[in-house]
Amino acid sequence: MKLLSALYIVPTPIGHFDDITKRALDVLSEVDWIACEDTRTSAKLFNHFGIKAKTFSLHEHNEVQRLSWITEQLDKDASIALISDAGTPLISDPGYKVVAHLREHGYQVTALPGACAAIAALSAAGIPSDRFCFEGFLPAKSASRQGKLQDLLQESRTMIFYESPRRAVRTLEDMAVIWGETHRIAIARELTKVYETFLFGSVRDVLSRLRADENQQKGEMVIVCHGFKSKPQELPREALEMLSLLCQDLPLKQVSKYIAIAFKVNKNTVYQHGLSLKKSPLA
Ligand code: SAM
Repeated sequence: MKLLSALYIVPTPIGHFDDITKRALDVLSEVDWIACEDTRTSAKLFNHFGIKAKTFSLHEHNEVQRLSWITEQLDKDASIALISDAGTPLISDPGYKVVAHLREHGYQVTALPGACAAIAALSAAGIPSDRFCFEGFLPAKSASRQGKLQDLLQESRTMIFYESPRRAVRTLEDMAVIWGETHRIAIARELTKVYETFLFGSVRDVLSRLRADENQQKGEMVIVCHGFKSKPQELPREALEMLSLLCQDLPLKQVSKYIAIAFKVNKNTVYQHGLSLKKSPLA
């Protein structure tokens, strides 16, 4: 059956060829065209699975030039798959400009779910996975990287980074200085491959294990980092004193409500201060 005319976003394995889905293989076998980040890299995948494909290259340097040709093909009812060298296209990989252009002009774009190093790393890192942000690659230059790490000091969600093995030690050194040596992180290295390793612990522990074993500085890696506890909003001294006094006799919930109204501050912030006052009362 001929596939519907659309751009199909197709994830490919990040190491282990068996991680491609049945549907991805079907789509890659049936589409009229496959846009590849690098046609030579993808040829290995196609040979392995016996896929005979009409391919063209689509990478960061030619993405914009390809737009009109792609829309012409879709206008002729063709189907096109978009793949990158590994994992999910657009995730630190080319494709965003094409997808945005097709959406703007009302073309059909559909996504197949599949391998993505960031999600695989997060799922096994042992670091909170309920809220997270993906930060892609940190800047290569140390001043910009340190600036970015400073900006992230307010980030309460788990942070996920892609990192080049050449820079991993320097990045962790910067994290130790800016975030503190005890900040919790995990490094997921060579996911789905023979030498898959997870290093987990404080920045100091993980850094010393990277330094002690050069093999841990090789291959592909994802760094998953704990978010920062958001600092409670400051309260005026008078509000704190009233809180300290009233919550000795009244329920904290009720006290928080009235102090929030009286001092025009957030009720939950007052409540959090109340909890900490119970642990260590005002001097
Ligand atoms: N689009 C891909 C995805 O969905 O994961 C990511 C492409 S990005 C150019 C390549 C980076 O992804 C690598 O430098 C590394 O940080 C991470 N990566 C890819 N494969 C990996 C693997 N098998 N193990 C650990 N990290 C991997």
